[in-house]
Order: sequence, then structure tokens, then C-alpha cells
Amino acid sequence: MTEKVRCLIIGSGPAGYTAAIYASRANLSPVLYEGMQPGGQLTTTNDVENFPGYPNGITGPEMMVEFKAQAERFGADIRFGYATATDLSAAPYKVTIDGEKIIEADTIIISTGATAKYLGLPDETKYSGSGVSACATCDGFFYRKRKVAVVGGGDTACEEATYLAGLADKVFLIVRKPFLRASKIMQERVLSNPKIEVLFEHETLGLTGDKVVQGANLVKRRGQSDEEQVHIEIDGFFLAIGHKPNSDIFKPWIDTDEVGYIKTIPGTPRTNVEGVFAAGDVADPHYRQAITAAGSGCQAAIEVERYLSEKGI
Ligand code: NDP
Repeated sequence: MTEKVRCLIIGSGPAGYTAAIYASRANLSPVLYEGMQPGGQLTTTNDVENFPGYPNGITGPEMMVEFKAQAERFGADIRFGYATATDLSAAPYKVTIDGEKIIEADTIIISTGATAKYLGLPDETKYSGSGVSACATCDGFFYRKRKVAVVGGGDTACEEATYLAGLADKVFLIVRKPFLRASKIMQERVLSNPKIEVLFEHETLGLTGDKVVQGANLVKRRGQSDEEQVHIEIDGFFLAIGHKPNSDIFKPWIDTDEVGYIKTIPGTPRTNVEGVFAAGDVADPHYRQAITAAGSGCQAAIEVERYLSEKGI
């Protein structure tokens, strides 16, 4: 089963849907495959208050429904399906959907996003959207004058802890090692902030609370002779232990950095394969915001339009 398309968009967060809006308005008849989590990471966020145009905020799932409706209004063909393999050795490029259907595409926009890493505790699922978050910029505002914890010892964790300290009354930074891995300047910001208490050599065992997070059970120096159980009272629990960009199926052809983020020519969504573009979090280790993802989706669609017209396809 093979189908030929001019513009294939893989992934359905703000980057993919924005690319679909622009590509369909440019008459490119884009086909978009939504992937495992239609709507992407925003569907796990409650309220989005920092996307311009929504002065009263909107929930992440609602926002993604609107993005999708806007793309469909201009004729984008949005389908449920998951890209399982690629062959980008020569155009038209081949993408396998759900292990069976082959799409041949003149151009591809990769907008498969990134997945925040979680500790793997059952309580993270239990309290999802009720005190557990992996994005301080998205959800920090709801914890003004409250107590929160951030897990991780890298730059993201330090950045998120510092950001949250500007809102919350108290921030615990839970670090499994006896030191921070973050850059010196980020460490200094954290260590000199009176609102942040760094809990070195602590690991999280579970969360407590009636319907919403009210505390965390930790263990200090696990497995050592002086191992100690610690309980902290918190209203929010933020994971900042890294993201995994969803780029595995492209790696045989597309250049990525050591973490797996797709490398693009700076200031553009162009990858090392002509006609293949990357937009949103899969290519963005720095900003990871809905608005920046949407902006890069727009850029990618404009690039596709120019590429196809240059090639006369
Ligand atoms: P990192 O991989 O750098 O750090 C992850 C942190 O999470 C580490 O402290 C790690 O601990 C900890 N961790 C991982 N798994 C677990 C676990 N299961 N339990 C407890 N802790 C865990 O990821 P970041 O997202 O912080 O950074 C990614 C990249 O982005 C880095 O290159 C960073 O420099 C960059 N970045 C730069 C920023 C800036 O310049 N402003 C801002 C944010 C990120 P351990 O140390 O023990 O492995």
C-alpha cells in the first residue's frame, strides 16, 4: 500500500498543526500523521496562559483541538497513525505508517516533539495534572506563594528552580548526587537563592495527598548506613530530569546532537537532507515552548513551499 504526497507532516503538537495550517493555505495538500499522542505534550498540561491571543487562558487539550480544526478548515488531511520507519536515502522519501502503509513524500516536516522524562513512579501518573508537572514555565504560575519541589541537578532543574523561586514561597531541589551537574553560573544562582533548599543525595519514593499533591516521601543516602527517610510538604512536584527528543526513526539519515535533537541550519528548519525540515521540540533543546514550536512549524511550511516551487514539483 503506497501513497504519494507532496508534503508529509509527522507529529501533531503546535509545530505540526501550524505547519499544516500554512501548508494547506499554500495549496500543498499536506498529510499529517498525529502519532501516539494526538496534540502532543500540551495535552498533558492544564491551563496555557502564555500563548498570545488567549487573554483568559485555555486548556492544553482545548488549544490543540482548535489548532487541529484550523488546519482542517483549510483542507489539511489529518490522520491517526504513527510513523514507524523511514527511508530518506533519496527523494521521494519513504515513511512507513503503523508498520504497513508506505507514504512517498516529496517533502517532510518532522515535528515529533520531545518527551519529558519521568522517574517512573506510579504516583506521577496518579497526580498527573494535580500537582505533578514537567514544565515550570507552563505550570509554575499556579504555585504562587506555595511550596514546590523540583527533581534534577542539571541546567534545566536549576533554571526551573530559579524560575519557580520567583513565584513560590519555597522550592526544594531534589538532587540524587552530592553535587549539581549544572553549569557553574546556574549552580550559583540556585545556591545563593534564599528560597531554594537543595536536598543533595535525596531520591523520591512517592507522593502523598488527598487528590492533589500535598507532600513527598524521600530517602536520603539510600543504601548507606546512615540512610534516612525524609518527608517534605509541597503543593507541586516538577520533573526536570531531561527530555528525550522523538527522533529515533530519522537517525540513520538526519544529523542529531548527542542527546538526539535534530540539528538544523541555524535560524532555519532545514536539516542535512534537502526537502526534509524539522520544527518544534524535536529540534529545540533550548526553548521548548508552544509559541516557539508554532513559529518553527510556520517556517518549515514556508520552506516546503519554496523548495517545491524551486524544484518545480
Ligand atoms: P541533564 O541530562 O543535563 O540533567 C539531568 C539531571 O537529572 C541530572 O542532574 C541527573 O542526575 C538527573 N536525573 C536523571 N535521571 C534521574 C532520576 N531517575 N532520578 C533523579 N535524578 C535524575 O538534562 P537537562 O534537561 O538539565 O539539560 C539538557 C541539556 O540542555 C544540557 O546540555 C543542558 O546544559 C542544556 N540546557 C541548557 C540551559 C541553558 O543553558 N540555559 C537550560 C536548560 C538546559 P545525575 O547528575 O545524577 O545524572
